[in-house]
Amino acid sequence: MTLATPGTQAALQARYDNALMNTFGPPKRVFVRGEGAHLWDADGNRYTDLLAGLAVNALGHAHPQVIAAISAQLGTLGHVSNFFATPTQIALAEKLAGFVAANDPELPARVFFTNSGTEANEAAFKITRRTGRTRLIAMQGSFHGRSLGALALTSNPAYREPFEPLPGEVVFVPYGDADALAAVVDETVAAVVVEPIQGENGVVEPPSDYLAMARDLTAAAGALLWIDEVQTGIGRCGDWLASAASGVTGDIVTFAKGLGNGFPVGACVATGPAASLLGPGSHGTTFGGNPVAAAAGLAVIGIIERDGLLARVEAAGDRLADGILGLAHPGIAAVRGRGLLRGVVLTDPIAPAVADAALAAGFVINAPRPNVLRLAPPLIISDSDLDAFVAALPGLLEAT
Ligand SMILES: *Cc1c(COP(=O)(O)O)cnc(C)c1O
Repeated sequence: MTLATPGTQAALQARYDNALMNTFGPPKRVFVRGEGAHLWDADGNRYTDLLAGLAVNALGHAHPQVIAAISAQLGTLGHVSNFFATPTQIALAEKLAGFVAANDPELPARVFFTNSGTEANEAAFKITRRTGRTRLIAMQGSFHGRSLGALALTSNPAYREPFEPLPGEVVFVPYGDADALAAVVDETVAAVVVEPIQGENGVVEPPSDYLAMARDLTAAAGALLWIDEVQTGIGRCGDWLASAASGVTGDIVTFAKGLGNGFPVGACVATGPAASLLGPGSHGTTFGGNPVAAAAGLAVIGIIERDGLLARVEAAGDRLADGILGLAHPGIAAVRGRGLLRGVVLTDPIAPAVADAALAAGFVINAPRPNVLRLAPPLIISDSDLDAFVAALPGLLEAT
C-alpha cells in the first residue's frame, strides 16, 4: 500500500506550500526514508543526520527494536482512556520517576504523561499554581514551548509579543547569574524554571554550580525548582538527566524530545510534596500515557541501558568537540555543550548559510542563533560519520 503519492522534491515542496500553514518557512528538503543516522530525500540524495529531528531520534531512524516494541504494543492494546491503566504506562512512569529521584530513592515521584514537551511544561505550570503562589522566575534566553502557558515562560520577544497578553507574573533573570536569581527568589515565588543547557538559545551552559545554587535558593524560599529536560534529558548529554551532573533533585522535571525516538511522548515528573499537587479533575489528557507511546519510551530507555549508550554519548561528544576544536579554524570561536548536544560558535553571523551549505553537502544541522551551529546527532552515530562532518566543516565555513 502506498501511503502518499511519491514525487520529486520540487513537486512535493509546491504541494506543501499549498496544503500546510507557513509556520516553519518553506521546507528545505522532503525526506522519504531514514535508517540509523542517515536520511534520504525525495530525489534519492543521502544525508548524515546530525540533528536527529531536533534531539528526538536518539536511536536513529527505523531502529528495529523500537519498531518491534511499538508494533507489538499496537498489536496487543493500542489505546485505552485514562479512566483505565496499562502495564506499559506504569512501567515507563516507574523508570522516569526513578531517574528523577535517583539521588533520593525514598522521595515520592509521580508522572503525568503528555504528547509533547510543551504539554509537559503546561502540566508543570498548573502544578506551580497549586502551591498557592503565582509568581514564576524564568531565564533570559529560555525556550519552553509555544502554548500560551509555555510561551509565558519563553523569553524571546519575537515569539511572545504577537500573542500577549500571556499568563502573567513571570520575571526573567539572566541565565547562569546566581546573584540575579538570589535577588528575586523570595516567599512569593511559586517556582523557578530552568533548562540545564539552553538548547534553543544556542547550546548555552550555566556555571557548573548554578543549578545547586538554584536548588538552595528555592528550598529556602519554599519555592519549587522546575527543571526542563525536554531537550537535554534521556541520554542526550551523557546522563538520563543533564542536571544529574549538578547533584540536584528537581521538584518538577519535564521530558519529551528524546524519549520516544520520534513517537510523540512527553512526561512531567514531580517529586516530594509537588508530586501530590494535582488531584482528580485538576488536569487531564486523552492521548497522554497511551500504551504505544509508553512502549516506545520503554524501548528507548531499555536499548540505551543495554547498549551502554550513556558512556558512548560522552565519548562521541568529546570526539566531536575535540575534532572541531582540533581544526583550529579561524572561523570557529568555541564549542559549547555536553555529550551529543553541541553548539559550534562561529566568529561571524553566518550560521544559517553554513547550515544550508551543510545540507547541500549531505549533512543535516541547524542554526539556532546567527553565529551558532547546533549538532544533536542520534546517540548511536558512528565515529566515522562524526569524523566525516568534522572533515567537511572547514569547506562549509569557507563556502559561505
Ligand atoms: C523543544 C522544547 C520544548 C517544547 O517541546 P515540544 O515537544 O516542541 O512541545 C520545551 N522545552 C525545551 C527545553 C525544548 O527544547
